[in-house]
Amino acid sequence: SCPLCPTLTACVLQVTLRIRPMSVAELQEGARPIAHRLDEQVVMLRDPMQNPDNVLRANCSREKSYVFDAAFDSTSTQETVYRATTQDLIAGVISGCNATVFSYGPTGCGKTYTMLGTDSEPGICTRALGDLFHSIEESSGDAEHEVSMSYLEIYNEAIRDLLSPSRRSLQLWEDSHGTVRVVGITEVSASSAEEVLQLLLRGNQRRMQEPTATNHTSSRSHAVLQLTVRGRERGRGLRCGRLLLIDLAGSERAAWTQNRGQRMKEGQHINRSLLALGNCIKALSKPAGSAHVNYRDSKLTRLLKDSLGGNSHTVMIAHISPASTAFEESRSTLAYANRAK
Ligand code: ADP
Ligand code: MG
Repeated sequence: SCPLCPTLTACVLQVTLRIRPMSVAELQEGARPIAHRLDEQVVMLRDPMQNPDNVLRANCSREKSYVFDAAFDSTSTQETVYRATTQDLIAGVISGCNATVFSYGPTGCGKTYTMLGTDSEPGICTRALGDLFHSIEESSGDAEHEVSMSYLEIYNEAIRDLLSPSRRSLQLWEDSHGTVRVVGITEVSASSAEEVLQLLLRGNQRRMQEPTATNHTSSRSHAVLQLTVRGRERGRGLRCGRLLLIDLAGSERAAWTQNRGQRMKEGQHINRSLLALGNCIKALSKPAGSAHVNYRDSKLTRLLKDSLGGNSHTVMIAHISPASTAFEESRSTLAYANRAK
C-alpha cells in the first residue's frame, strides 16, 4: 500500500473486466450471448463451437470461468465502473501519487465508451476530471494545486503530440534518476474539467483513424492523457502526482483485420506494445522483486515506467463483447487480462 494515500490500501494492480451489451449488428447476424458475469468478480465464457454431446461424453465443461477484481456487464452503469476503478485514485493523485487507468480490448468492445463515454453517459475521463477539480477546490483553504495536461498517441511505435498540430514524432528521454520524459511535448495548464475535455476532444480529432476491414473508425493508436497535479500543502512542501488515462489501440490480431502491408506492420507494432505491457503487468503482479520488469521492449512501456509499480496504482479495464461471433477475441482478451492476476 502507498504511504502517501491513506485511501488506497488495496492492491496496487487491479484488473477488471467489462462485458458490453450485444450490439444490433451482432443480433442481426444471429449471434448468441456466450459471456456472462456470474457475480461481482467472476466471468464465464462458453465455447459456442463445442458440441454438447461431446461435452457430455467427455465429461468436460463447455464453460470456463475467469476471476477479476471486479466484473461489469450490461447492467453496470458508467458511474458504477468509475466508482469501482478510478474514484479512489483521485485523492492519491492530489497528495502526490501516480495512478494509471487503461482501457484494453478488441476494437468495438467499449474501450472508448468506458474512457470517454457520451454526453448523456460520461465516462471515466469526464468523471475523474470533475472529481479532481472539485477536490482541489474544496482543499483550497489549506493547499494550492496546479493541474496541467498533455495528450499524446503512440502510433507505429512513434509518439505524437495530440495538443500540437505538428506531425513530428517525439523522443523519450530518461534522466539520471530514471525519470522518463517526452522531449518537447506540449503541457497546458488547466483550471477546469471543461477546459481539459475541450483539449481532449480537439486532440482526438488528430488521432490516426483510418478505415480497416473490421471497423471503419477503429483507433489504431494508443491515446495517453496525462494529468499532472503539483501541490503545495501548508507545512508539507511540494508534491507532484500524476494520473494517466489511456485508451489503448484495439488488441485484435493483425491477421484478423484481413489487411496486408502497412496494416500488418501496424498490427505488429500495436501488439509489440500490448505484449510488452502485458509482460510488465504480469511481472508487477508477482511479489516485489521476484520478477524482472522489462520496460524497454516498447514505447508504451518505456513511457509508463514511472507509472507502473513503485508508488503507483494501476487499473486495467479489459473489454469484451458477449457475442458468440466474438468468441476467439474474447477468449484471448480474458487470457491476457487473467495473466495479470
Ligand atoms: P472501442 O473503443 O473498444 O473500439 P467503442 O467504445 O467505440 O469501442 O464501442 C463500440 C460501440 O459500442 C459504441 O457504439 C459504443 O457506444 C457501444 N458501447 C460500448 N460499450 C457499451 C456499454 N457498456 N453500454 C452501451 N453501449 C456500449
Ligand atoms: Mg475506441
